Amino acid sequence: MIEKLSRLFVRTLRDDPADAEVPSHRWLVRAGYVRRAAPGVYSWLPLGLKVLQKVEAVVREEMDAIGAQEVRFPALLPREPYEATGRWVDYGDNLFRVQDRKGADMLLGPTHEEMFTLMVKDLYSSYKDLPLSLYQIQAKYRDEARPRAGLLRGREFVMKDSYSFDVDDAGLEASYQLHRQAYQRIFERLGLDYVIVSAMAGAMGGSRSEEFLAVAENGEDTFVRSPGGFAANVEAVRVPAPAALPLDEAPAMETVETPGAGSIAAVVEVLNRDRGERSWGPGDTLKNLLFKVTSPDGTTRPLAIGIPGDRELDPKRLAAVMEPAVAEPFGPEDFARHPELVVGYISPVSLDGTKVLGSESSTGIEYLADPRIVTGTFWVTGANEADRHLSGVTVGRDFEPDGVLDVADVREGDPAPDGSGPLSLARGIEMGHIFQLGRKYADALGLKVLDANGKLVTVTMGSYGVGVSRAVAAVAEATCDEKGLSWPAGLAPYQVQVIATGKDQGIFDEAERIAVALSDAGLDVLLDDRKASPGVKFADAEVLGMPVAIVVGRGLATGEVEVRVRATDERRAVALADVVPATLEVLGS
Ligand code: ATP
Ligand code: MG
Repeated sequence: MIEKLSRLFVRTLRDDPADAEVPSHRWLVRAGYVRRAAPGVYSWLPLGLKVLQKVEAVVREEMDAIGAQEVRFPALLPREPYEATGRWVDYGDNLFRVQDRKGADMLLGPTHEEMFTLMVKDLYSSYKDLPLSLYQIQAKYRDEARPRAGLLRGREFVMKDSYSFDVDDAGLEASYQLHRQAYQRIFERLGLDYVIVSAMAGAMGGSRSEEFLAVAENGEDTFVRSPGGFAANVEAVRVPAPAALPLDEAPAMETVETPGAGSIAAVVEVLNRDRGERSWGPGDTLKNLLFKVTSPDGTTRPLAIGIPGDRELDPKRLAAVMEPAVAEPFGPEDFARHPELVVGYISPVSLDGTKVLGSESSTGIEYLADPRIVTGTFWVTGANEADRHLSGVTVGRDFEPDGVLDVADVREGDPAPDGSGPLSLARGIEMGHIFQLGRKYADALGLKVLDANGKLVTVTMGSYGVGVSRAVAAVAEATCDEKGLSWPAGLAPYQVQVIATGKDQGIFDEAERIAVALSDAGLDVLLDDRKASPGVKFADAEVLGMPVAIVVGRGLATGEVEVRVRATDERRAVALADVVPATLEVLGS
């Protein structure tokens, strides 16, 4: 088909939108693909909608190919099912809650596990009906704390979500693998450079889960990989605990005078000056951080976290393990409520052996420690007195953490947890997420079927998401350059832009004839028939980003046009008779 630019509902903009943080956002707005309606909420204009629909088509084909059936649930949902699974509360501020005129609570769906579980419960009752996979492509609503980067993190966004239902674990594993393979095909077809990483299940619950990340400098997710093939979202990295050390080899607990040494570096300096029998480093120290943890129901509790002094606490790793609760560092008011903690010198134990942190201590504050803080390891830490530290503070003898909390930062060069070599860090955009939910939702909502022996069994489920609108931005992010968008042929709104330059009507007529020939060959063509200068037209073509441009102008005198390839900037003169085959060749079709 042919569309004329003179009538297409689009305006390219000269200036970046004020809130543009990443190139894809800047260009999608400047090229007139999307417009912001509210923070994190976008309208799709004709060009953008075409790309969105092409991404949807890829996703739909691959879901259909694994036998999943398309349905569409409402976005406006009743409260009760979400209440039954706890998510009405657990989703916290991320949930858009609305009330109808009678005052009944409703929500805008952030994801639909509850609704699908109930629908299958309504209609199915036997193992013979399973396995079953259902999916939909639909707008989702989440009141994200920081909508950013345009379509990459919206408050309304398009997701493909699917749900699998099986009688047993082997069935779930098979459904999961089918989705995993479908996702590999989807992201390959979108042309994304992606990695599959193990992930944390988060508020979704359940056990096994993997994410598909598009490798991108501007991505919000950090992932690690090792030469031996380990790959994980940094939130999902579990640091292995070293072996415990014998307690009888630990040194005695002693006081170190550290006047004015307010930082770990200063403490290490004092140690090296006054205890020069060995060299000390930040890794010999233990830092104890205090947090206020707020549960979704609004209750709060203090939590102390111990990590080796040579590591930083990673706020994202902490947020992931605390979810749905939220942890914030202690502020002055929180410390004021615990005068027994001497800020800057906090320790799980005092020199006289009094426990200060931990559920069995004078403060009763729960104390969780990094996995490296194992029995028999000994540390330099505060003395719970100003200007004093303690050395030789030994785990299992002087204090015992209440449990493990693995939230220290993961660094380039750290060993992979599975021994497959040093980790390297990179960034990515989460494009898809597959979960083995297990029986969490089926249990909460009573989804059972009769098995082959006539016994009622709880169904086991998987849930699988693809960020469809996010994919539009992720592809743009991967392909755009300093001049504008640059779509792969399979996703471009039009594969070819024919540009008529000059004032001569003959040129416009010839441009139209070329457009018809290309369209007849099965291509979607955008014809720039506007009365504008060549400079404006060329610049617009680069901003709009169709993979091939055909410039019709002066060359006609010698029977030639110019074929320009957007991605490589390659330009070549082609005889009129060869325009169609040359274009098809460039497009690889
Ligand atoms: P994120 O960690 O990026 O917030 P999530 O873990 O909350 O994602 P899921 O609940 O697994 O995401 O949703 C499935 C998919 O939907 C994600 O993999 C992502 O591609 C997409 N998605 C999630 N949140 C957004 C959003 N705010 N805007 C656009 N796409 C999103
Ligand atoms: Mg999210």
